[in-house]
Amino acid sequence: MKRVLLMFMCLILVAGCEKKVEPEKKEETKPVSVQLEDVEVELGTELLNTKGIISVINGELVTAEEKVETSVLGVQKVKIVAKNEAGEEKEFEYNVNVVDKTAPVITYKKKLTTTEGKKFNLLSGVSAKDNSLEKVTVKVEGDYDFDKAGTYKLYYVCKDSSGNTAKEEFSLVVKEKPVEQPKEEPKQEEKKEEQPKEEETPKKEETPKKEETKKTTTSGYNPNGTDASLNGTKTSKGYTITVKNGITYIDGIMIANKTYSLPKSYAPGGLTSATKNAANEMIAAAKKDGVSLYVASGFRSWTTQNNLWQKRAKNYGKAFADSGTARGGYSEHQTGLAFDMCGSGSGCISPEYHNSKGAKWMTANAYKYGLVLRYPKGKENLTGYKYESWHFRYVGKDLAKKLYNNGNWITLEEYFGITSKYAD
Ligand SMILES: [Zn+2]
Repeated sequence: MKRVLLMFMCLILVAGCEKKVEPEKKEETKPVSVQLEDVEVELGTELLNTKGIISVINGELVTAEEKVETSVLGVQKVKIVAKNEAGEEKEFEYNVNVVDKTAPVITYKKKLTTTEGKKFNLLSGVSAKDNSLEKVTVKVEGDYDFDKAGTYKLYYVCKDSSGNTAKEEFSLVVKEKPVEQPKEEPKQEEKKEEQPKEEETPKKEETPKKEETKKTTTSGYNPNGTDASLNGTKTSKGYTITVKNGITYIDGIMIANKTYSLPKSYAPGGLTSATKNAANEMIAAAKKDGVSLYVASGFRSWTTQNNLWQKRAKNYGKAFADSGTARGGYSEHQTGLAFDMCGSGSGCISPEYHNSKGAKWMTANAYKYGLVLRYPKGKENLTGYKYESWHFRYVGKDLAKKLYNNGNWITLEEYFGITSKYAD
């Protein structure tokens, strides 16, 4: 009986105790906490609002998972609500920094091709997209000239407002305009051209003289060719200068450079037959050595040359035009004795051609066919022109061999002791 009573009392005591503990437990429910970290995200990429949450302690997340707007650059707050076991909610926040580290993407063509004189907008068909909503524009970087054949290495450049730049290389190929080719060359001229000395009497010459004299003083051009007063004078090396009908000859070699011009009327209309033969011989010999060559530009008339120079001078200034392009009347292309020879498959009439197979072969072998590398490297001050590994001039085998000089090319200017400088 005593035992039963004791147990009963204990039960009551326990029950009483339990009653007392219960409310205390509720008061001890810990507040919820959320561990967060700031997030940096690339513009326009998908991001969930839960990205910054490392852990939720003493509770659970109330906020539903959803996407954060990332289309605007800058810092924004992301709010998170969590509750503890007692259902007490609490708000937390962290930073989302939307950044732009991606360069725009340019859509373009790697290679553009045109013909001399045919201009077009290098930006037509070119577009750029940036990951931001901003409008980006593309610019062209590099030098090029639609009026001068060659392969130009250029760049499309596009920068976004965050400073990310896209730069894509492309090439502009300006093909030589198909020149008046020697096909229709009159036969009577061919005979003459075999002996350049006999060319000294171009047909009509007095008539054009009159109309052209008016222009003479305007811009340093001398469309009547070399001044007759130079006839019979001596060069610094003692050679006699012969001027006939405005055309200059020294030791039977026709001279056209920046000092000695040709009259407008002088127009063989194509390469002379001797020059053509030399070019063909050279092409055939190169072929045997596995080098493929072709004439890219032959005869150019006074007017063609003048137009070429005028355009360049207008676009780039006189000094730049003069460094690579002869003025009308001053081009060796007008003699019909000079041509630009290119190696197929390699960019030509541009500095990058110098190291090509074709250029190297010609530099080493042209003299065998009576041709000289007219504007050699390092002789710019003498010839008045930049190094042109493609421009060859027919002078005959004897003189060509002398000028070749075992690979150390001598210029006509040095050999004869003459200058190549414009009067103005
Ligand atoms: Zn040339």
